[in-house]
Amino acid sequence: MNNTKYVFTGSEFHPLYQPSLCFKRVWLAENQPELAADDSAFQDLVLRRGKAIEARHLEELAPYHKPVYPEDDLAAGAEATRALIKCQAPIIYQPIFISPAGFLGIPDLLIFDTDSEKYIVRDVKLATNIYEHPEISLQMGLYQMVASHTLGYKPQLELVTGDGQIQAFQAADGEQTLAEIDSILQLRKQTQAPLEPVGWSKCGPCVFKNVCWDTALEKQDIATVPYVDQGICRALYGLGIVNYTQLSTLGENALADIKRPWGKQMRRVGLAAARKIKLQIKALLSNEQIVATPPSLPPGYQPGTRPVVMFDIENDVFDLDLGVKVYLWGCLLVEDTPTSPQLIVAGEGIDGDKQGWHDFLSYVNDIFHCYGDIPFVHYSPHERTWIKNYIKRYGDVKDTANRLLDNLWDMYPAIEKNLFLPIPSYGLKFVEELVGFQRSQEEFGGLWSIITYDQYINAASKKEADTILKEILTYNSEDLLATLAVYEWLENIVSAGAVGRLSIHVHS
Ligand code: SF4
Repeated sequence: MNNTKYVFTGSEFHPLYQPSLCFKRVWLAENQPELAADDSAFQDLVLRRGKAIEARHLEELAPYHKPVYPEDDLAAGAEATRALIKCQAPIIYQPIFISPAGFLGIPDLLIFDTDSEKYIVRDVKLATNIYEHPEISLQMGLYQMVASHTLGYKPQLELVTGDGQIQAFQAADGEQTLAEIDSILQLRKQTQAPLEPVGWSKCGPCVFKNVCWDTALEKQDIATVPYVDQGICRALYGLGIVNYTQLSTLGENALADIKRPWGKQMRRVGLAAARKIKLQIKALLSNEQIVATPPSLPPGYQPGTRPVVMFDIENDVFDLDLGVKVYLWGCLLVEDTPTSPQLIVAGEGIDGDKQGWHDFLSYVNDIFHCYGDIPFVHYSPHERTWIKNYIKRYGDVKDTANRLLDNLWDMYPAIEKNLFLPIPSYGLKFVEELVGFQRSQEEFGGLWSIITYDQYINAASKKEADTILKEILTYNSEDLLATLAVYEWLENIVSAGAVGRLSIHVHS
């Protein structure tokens, strides 16, 4: 689509918000796009799945009209749309709206509502959690604004979400939308990239990670220090404090008194946060692991108590039937030594998903039957969230899922609340590296898992599918083994018994 003569289109909010809010990404995408890493495999996946959801919805709606116009002549497309509206075509696919200010909007559908005798703007999205996507709200706000010029009224909005539901949608209002467009247009024109603190969850999935995050790590930028949040970071930058060494010279009380942006107000950093930051800086500068308070193990467990199960799941977040699907339930039973991992792969569609859940529960039930209530150790709240979601989706079997919820044990808070480690994030991948765990695969991670699973379900032959599945199973097995390595390291810290005092363990 040639949109160079248009001031703004609905998709241009995306770089500001995806995969995280970042003003610098808007500037880099406009001024130095050649620095972006190749994410074509992921973009291709998103496009294909988006088209598939749209095609499925269109099939349910058919027949529909589509404006006819010469390729690239969007003004003619807007005319053709007007003609279809004038004759009250019931369903118009990809209508074109151009506002007098030069804003372009091409929503997926315009549906004539016979009750109100007005059109509804409907768009199809892959996302299911639509209110967590400000770019969707702004894009729909833009569509509403540009459609109003043609229709003569403000149309209602609807979204078809990734799980096939149709929902009425409240978008950003015209004022908000225009303000955001203006700020993006101004940002793009700046001669230099805006100052933007990095952050692991912010930069990890961004195409410019190598540009910003890796450079910030090299410079020991304070933005790579856990607990130095974006507001604290901006306040410290303002005082000329940009690296670990400079931050280490600032006293705890002085740091606590610094005011940083907090919503629409300014708020003190406070003593609790200042203490954490100071300990974190100490760990980073000395490359030591600091045990601030003694961590604990699962209830009733001592170092070396067995059996225990390591637990990790893999999600497909763009499933065409379910929105989000757990496609792999991974467990590793550890008796005196680890047994073979139990890796349960869900089948296709809703039936396959349900079968995967039931197979998993059957395995968990066997474990409880053999060993009683033993802990299932996982890293982050993700696993608990999805057990609860699957109970809602398909129900429980013999109360196994609820019993599992009672026996889940999240290792992340046990580490993050008690220890200060010389790493820029407390995510599993950083902690496992710190404890010396090594993976066999060069490429891995949540995004890799989604793309590789997509290749698996679209493989051209069984042989190809089996080869790809082997890679996925290796990845999940290594996640389980990494969780075990971190658990054993935590057991050693508990054994060393740093009771009631600050002790420092030198990282070997
Ligand atoms: S790597 Fe981080 S700071 Fe750089 S553009 Fe991406 S999100 Fe923004």
